[in-house]
Order: sequence, then C-alpha cells, then structure tokens
Amino acid sequence: EEADLVELVQQAADAFRAGRPDHPLTVTTGSRPVRLRLDVLRVRQVLDNLLANAAVHTPAGTKVSVSVAVSSGTAEVRVSDSGPGIPAADQAQVFDRFYRVDKARSRDRGGSGLGLAVVRSLVRAHGGTVELTSEPGETTFTVRLPLGRLIA
Ligand code: ATP
Ligand code: MG
Repeated sequence: EEADLVELVQQAADAFRAGRPDHPLTVTTGSRPVRLRLDVLRVRQVLDNLLANAAVHTPAGTKVSVSVAVSSGTAEVRVSDSGPGIPAADQAQVFDRFYRVDKARSRDRGGSGLGLAVVRSLVRAHGGTVELTSEPGETTFTVRLPLGRLIA
C-alpha cells in the first residue's frame, strides 16, 4: 500500500518513547512526507527491531536517534545510538540468524538473535538494503528503500 515513511517513523518513535523512557530519542525528518509503496506493518517491524536493539544492547541513558531523508534515488532511514558499538569482527555476522555478539550477556536480555535477520529479509522484500557502521560510541543502521516506489 501507499504510506508516508515520515509518519511511520514518528509512530515508531512515539512507541519507543513510551516503552523505553531511559533512552532519550531524537527524531529528524524533513517537512515533506515521503510517500512510498510499502507494507506498513513490515516496515514498522523493521523500525521497531532497530530501535529496540539501540535500547536493549546499550546502557540506560544512551542517546538514540532516528532520521528520514531522501537522497540520490533512495529514501534513507537511519537508526543510531551512542552505545558501545559492535566489534568490526562481528559486524558482517549480526544479520545472520541466531548470531549474538556476546552470548553470555545477551542471554540475560533474552534476545534470540533473530531481529536483524528479520530486518534484512523484510528490507530486501521491499527491494531495499540495510547496512551497518559501528565504532565505540556510535552505531548506525541505514535502511535504503528505492525511490522508484515513491508516489508523487
Ligand atoms: P532479538 O532481536 O531476536 O530479540 P537480538 O537483539 O540479540 O535478539 P539481533 O537483533 O539480530 O538479535 O542482533 C544481533 C546482535 O547484534 C545482538 O545480540 C547484539 O549483540 C548486536 N547488536 C545489535 N544491535 C546493536 C546495537 N545497537 N548496539 C550494540 N550491539 C548490537
Ligand atoms: Mg534485536
């Protein structure tokens, strides 16, 4: 269906603020809607998974931000946090099913290691890509959805 990515991000941000009050969230969007043909529930699942990770895998007080922009043929959503980061050696594997960086610690938090595998398959189903950059103090997941799906 047709939906506004900006509105979807704002809804996910509202839910995050209600559920994760100990992680301050900043939202950055342009003033115009970014209307795309997309599956609202699945894109919401992508946003919720990335935002949950930014809270669950970082200490309380860690800043989280989400942005939407339109750039060089794609709609871009970025979810960033100022947490400890993902070691370079693990970055390629975090999208694999059941992969968790620190299994002992992650077990306490009850994660199964499926979230990012689901994110990647849902993004690909939309013809998009998801990539990760991370260093201590800054982790960013960038989701790109083709602007060919933009509705004028
Ligand atoms: P699930 O999402 O299934 O509940 P999970 O969060 O452990 O479990 P993924 O979302 O697939 O699984 O993430 C895989 C691993 O990547 C996590 O276990 C964690 O080690 C690491 N990770 C993901 N996001 C972050 C982040 N923002 N900061 C630090 N580590 C992260
Ligand atoms: Mg997760």
